[in-house]
Amino acid sequence: MKELKPNNLGKKYLVEQCPKINISDYLRQAKNKLKESIINSRVELDGLEVELVASKTCYNGLRFWFKCPLCNKRAGLLYKHPISRILGCRTCLNLEYRSRRYKGMIENIE
Ligand SMILES: [Zn+2]
Repeated sequence: MKELKPNNLGKKYLVEQCPKINISDYLRQAKNKLKESIINSRVELDGLEVELVASKTCYNGLRFWFKCPLCNKRAGLLYKHPISRILGCRTCLNLEYRSRRYKGMIENIE
């Protein structure tokens, strides 16, 4: 018995007459969905939930950031205070670099 295909029912359509679905279009959509789900996800860092945010790059890409749990600003780096164990950006934890602290010490001596 001959298999009954959709194009055997009445009018014969050509390839050009059918809407097409391209694998690369599908992958592009899937990639965008993946990026969206990354943005909408929360990561667990050291038992603490931290939100992620994204900003657009000039090449039409996305750059991901942590959302500082203390000030809600975006940060590429988060730190954990060694004593209080509080997680936050450098500004929120008031962390200084060693070189700056050293410079301050010299200034204090003068
Ligand atoms: Zn902060």
